[in-house]
Amino acid sequence: MGQVRLYIDQPLGGGQEAGLDTAQAHYLGGVMRLGPGAEIEAFNGRDGGWSAQIVELGKRGGRIEAVAQVRPPLPPPDLWLMFAPIKKARTDFIVEKATELGCARILPVATEFTQAGRIARDRLQAHAVEAAEQCGGTHVPEVAELSPLTRVLDGWDEGRRILWADESRVGPAETLAGLPRGPWAILIGPEGGFSEAERTRLGGSGVVTPVSLGPRILRADTAACAAITLWQAALGDWGGSRMT
Ligand code: SAH
Repeated sequence: MGQVRLYIDQPLGGGQEAGLDTAQAHYLGGVMRLGPGAEIEAFNGRDGGWSAQIVELGKRGGRIEAVAQVRPPLPPPDLWLMFAPIKKARTDFIVEKATELGCARILPVATEFTQAGRIARDRLQAHAVEAAEQCGGTHVPEVAELSPLTRVLDGWDEGRRILWADESRVGPAETLAGLPRGPWAILIGPEGGFSEAERTRLGGSGVVTPVSLGPRILRADTAACAAITLWQAALGDWGGSRMT
């Protein structure tokens, strides 16, 4: 198994100490069976990955000391994921996968046909932290509070384009190559899809590009993974080398 990675929201630099909270201390000591002297990798979302030594570890907390940078900061492309929250386990899955696949920010949005009235933002944020720890990332996407889609669109920054996964275009998948690079947000609807009013609004917006995700109707969690994958391959940080 690879080295234990821990997200710590504190400055990291050579010789710098950082405190551990109860949950982190429990994870290192109780779950991973590490103790003082053991080496882990710490990251804070800004300073890349740091090898760090456990200095002190107790039931309620502890301290680590950062030794050397072992990974440069690896920020994801400027891609947001907007999705209508669905059942708990599937919503958790979406947050986990969006983090692994490389989204910078995650925005749960309430659409007309959204069933979930609330989300446990803190729990979702913890899922993003865990996914970043597990996948070798050095960035944890912020999970925003649930907000109505109409309000999000009212305050939209026109510099960011929206890739709208539009189930009514079900059919041959559309290639994203050729779309402009830059800040984007992907929009995925709920099980019930988008309402007529939402379609009219999205269809009339100059920043929105509707796309098909292929010939089958996907569940929202699958659709999120598929859309991020297509975007990353065409416009994100996956492209580049050619198979030989
Ligand atoms: N009930 C709807 C489907 C909703 S699927 C219907 O039967 O038409 C949930 C969301 O996944 C959709 O709102 C859309 O954002 C996305 N999605 C699923 N399959 C898709 C496809 N083939 N093309 C584009 N978007 C798709």
